[in-house]
Amino acid sequence: MKAVKKMKSNSWDVEKVRADFPVLSQTVNGKPLRYLDNAASSQVPQTVIDRGAKYLREEHSNIHRGVHYLSQHATTAYEAAREKVKRFINAREAKECIFVRGCTEGVNLVASSYGRKFVSEGDEIIVSQMEHHANIIPWQMLAEEKGAKLRVIPMNERGELIIEEYENLLNERTKIVTVSHVSNSLGTVNPIKEMIATAHKFGVPFFVDGAQSVPHFPVDVQDLDVDFFTFSGHKMFAPTGSGVVYGKREWLDKMPPYQTGGGMIRTVSFEKTTFAPIPEKFEAGTPAIAANIGLGAAIDYLNSIDFAAAARYEHELLEYATEKLSAIEGVRIVGTAKEKASVLSFTIENVHPHDIGTILDQSGIAIRAGHHCAQPVMQFFDVPATARASFAFYNTREEVDVLADAIQKVIEVFA
Ligand code: PMP
Repeated sequence: MKAVKKMKSNSWDVEKVRADFPVLSQTVNGKPLRYLDNAASSQVPQTVIDRGAKYLREEHSNIHRGVHYLSQHATTAYEAAREKVKRFINAREAKECIFVRGCTEGVNLVASSYGRKFVSEGDEIIVSQMEHHANIIPWQMLAEEKGAKLRVIPMNERGELIIEEYENLLNERTKIVTVSHVSNSLGTVNPIKEMIATAHKFGVPFFVDGAQSVPHFPVDVQDLDVDFFTFSGHKMFAPTGSGVVYGKREWLDKMPPYQTGGGMIRTVSFEKTTFAPIPEKFEAGTPAIAANIGLGAAIDYLNSIDFAAAARYEHELLEYATEKLSAIEGVRIVGTAKEKASVLSFTIENVHPHDIGTILDQSGIAIRAGHHCAQPVMQFFDVPATARASFAFYNTREEVDVLADAIQKVIEVFA
């Protein structure tokens, strides 16, 4: 192994933060858990667990319907969570923040609803080559249904989008552009602010899959001037089943409902149904009340720490890990963009990523191995899969050292 620079000192108190996450203090296979699968799901702090438990213990009831005490309490808590989301991403109004089950539902909602109204035969939808399947398939199905065409922004060998190619794809047939803020398989941070501004020059709205950005650095939807933005709670320290799709009111008001049923109507008769305004129009049925109240608590948690310092610390950790793994003979880093967040994908010569994942698990190290729901990325880099370590602000340099040592052992076993 080549020598690796020491990590710079940082004011971030990682041990104090780790104590907030009970799951991190357990042992796995007789070893301390080293949780490095945050891009799949991050862990949940005690405050979020407590808030969910409080709802279940003291407030459990349906929202927006009952006039009774519990229902009113639950409704207040649910709507307070929406307000927190609004402030967290700096939306103009809380009503622009629609609760969904997660990013996948967010993409499906917009592809289906915006697509039904605004996409027709001969139109074009621009996606990027590094998208998660969740941000490809809904658009692909829409394109097939409407006779529209999917155009793909290519990337270079480092895993960066080729911006000139993107600009060449935009034209008067383009109806929407959809790109991830941060790639879950490569860690690339895309220059979405500039990309959005370019799309707007053509009058084209822009959708951002923010699943991998909101847990890692502050996001301001007004500053980005993004038209739609979605993220999942379970990747940002909240429970599964929570999530948001933000949309500018000017679009959401014009879009038809995605799902229909209870809770989203103004009047119903057998002749005609009229719909409630946003956000209810897009929230048919009983939502994930406990989970979204939990999402509000996760935002409270992020507000209680120095999130900007957390982001800086995490970035340093990623750089440290990149240097450390790059120094190991036989390891190839997949995704070497200049701007990266959280994700370190790699392969080891002659070792299948699933074997890497299984062997590391025996040392208590949780990483992800597979195609990461990004098969076009795997095709581009000509690999069947990668192993992926992904970091959060509670990970430590020592965990990176343990990861590097374990990888070295994998290499020795397969030598
Ligand atoms: N987009 C990206 C970039 C992701 O990383 C993920 C989750 N891996 C998704 C979309 C889908 O998110 P979810 O499964 O929470 O709906």
